[in-house]
Amino acid sequence: KVKQGLAQMLKGGVIMDVMNVEQAKIAEAAGAVAVMALERIPADIRRDGGVARMSDPALIKEIKNAVTIPVMAKARIGHFVEAQILEACEVDYIDESEVLTMADDVHHLDKTVYNVPFVCGCRNLGEALRRIAEGASMLRTKGEAGTGNVVEAVRHARQVQGDIRRLSSMSKDELYVAAKEMRAPYELVKQVAEDGKLPVVNFAAGGVATPADAALMMQLGVDGVFVGSGIFKSHNPEARARAIVQATTHYKDPKVLMEVSTGLGPAMVGISDINADPVNFRDREGGEFT
Ligand code: PLP
Repeated sequence: KVKQGLAQMLKGGVIMDVMNVEQAKIAEAAGAVAVMALERIPADIRRDGGVARMSDPALIKEIKNAVTIPVMAKARIGHFVEAQILEACEVDYIDESEVLTMADDVHHLDKTVYNVPFVCGCRNLGEALRRIAEGASMLRTKGEAGTGNVVEAVRHARQVQGDIRRLSSMSKDELYVAAKEMRAPYELVKQVAEDGKLPVVNFAAGGVATPADAALMMQLGVDGVFVGSGIFKSHNPEARARAIVQATTHYKDPKVLMEVSTGLGPAMVGISDINADPVNFRDREGGEFT
């Protein structure tokens, strides 16, 4: 509950990937609510390949010392020692991230054993509820990180919300079956059906590259936005970072969106055909809820 409250504090905000102190300062000045400290942003991981692991604690500490906003860092899925090390670094949140190379292809982290809150990716409600059951305090769409292509983030946000709407119309006996099909605890399924919403915040991530993308995701109903490669792979990171923050705050105001979208210079080039990309973060389908 305390950890979920910490995640609630980020609501309506933008969380930016940063690779050094200079970028972290740009993110903070632009109004980011948090930064994600990384050695390589997803676009570079895609390009370079190799095993992507937790960042050097030295980088995380430097960034923590340089900014006053919360600092997040990524651990590999299932790598509970990377998570222990990041907790020892006193990061504010840990992202159990599919953007890094998976360390355990069966078990996600037991996130209940840490004091630090965790954010996890999801593509559908079943995945979201399994991560919450494991102790995630915050969710994000998986999207398709490093592509600058918002299509998968849109798909995942719509999927989670559609799944919630379908649950809300179910009878109790149908909810038991839904829980079984989603491989999620019945009590959690029942709670979501009753509330018509998730018990934790759900941000957009994976392909957001423009102010319009950020506002699109907000209008689709997410609670905030992660921007990875979109900012520091663009022509003018300072201006784009500010514009994306403004667009996320004023996501319903087309006039503001028009203004902040004006004259930003080229966005990251990105990848339009995700399936044609040789280094692909898309992973095994985990429990589709149909
Ligand atoms: N994320 C990644 C990267 C995976 O490879 C898998 C599946 O095996 C999952 C998530 C799904 O895990 P779960 O079925 O527990 O949601």
